[in-house]
Amino acid sequence: MVRKPLLKIGLTGGIGSGKSTVADSLQKKGILIIDADRISRELTGKNGRALAQIKATFGEKSVVETGMNRDYMRGLILSDNTQKWRLEQILHPMIRKEMQECYEHADTAYVVFDIPLLIESIDRYKDFFDHICVVDCDPETQINRVMARSHYSRDQVMKIIALQAPRTKRLEYADAVIHNDQEVTLLQLEEQVNALHERWLHESSKKEG
Ligand code: ATP
Repeated sequence: MVRKPLLKIGLTGGIGSGKSTVADSLQKKGILIIDADRISRELTGKNGRALAQIKATFGEKSVVETGMNRDYMRGLILSDNTQKWRLEQILHPMIRKEMQECYEHADTAYVVFDIPLLIESIDRYKDFFDHICVVDCDPETQINRVMARSHYSRDQVMKIIALQAPRTKRLEYADAVIHNDQEVTLLQLEEQVNALHERWLHESSKKEG
């Protein structure tokens, strides 16, 4: 039996915006979450499928016993933007293929793709999603949240935010926005997630006919 394609939701947001909290909540409702970062870590971790190509492209030092040599690659990428591009050329098609395979085996009402840097690579994902959902908050909230859960300094978080897509650009692509500023409680966040969940369930039931 050929199954109808399931609704595809791209979930994104800046560092510390609350994506994982939203994804966890949807997962608890039984929705499949396909996590692009996890796939990327598997591809580049011990015995990962991307390692052979990484070694062939960047040399012996780029791969160690535990997988991709992250410190070495970080240095390479920071010193030369074309190296970042070359690594992405290897990883992105593999991540995309893996996501597609997970999607094809999905057995939930709709599927959420958790992709932190979705807007940064929007050209690769145009036409892939039915909806793009952005978890949005102001930079001050991002800084406070990330500092509270890690050893990063304010400056370090600000640098990461500056490297990510600007908030305005992320919102331009969103057709669903979850507001998660400092004053939003976890309960209010959950209420927004519930409302979107209902909307997407409804839409997927119509899609199934
Ligand atoms: P990253 O991009 O760094 O992985 P993220 O966007 O996935 O971050 P989360 O990990 O979901 O963000 O949230 C960051 C931190 O903020 C977590 O400790 C989470 O519990 C907390 N948090 C998120 N939203 C709220 C909220 N509305 N109220 C209280 N705490 C929150």
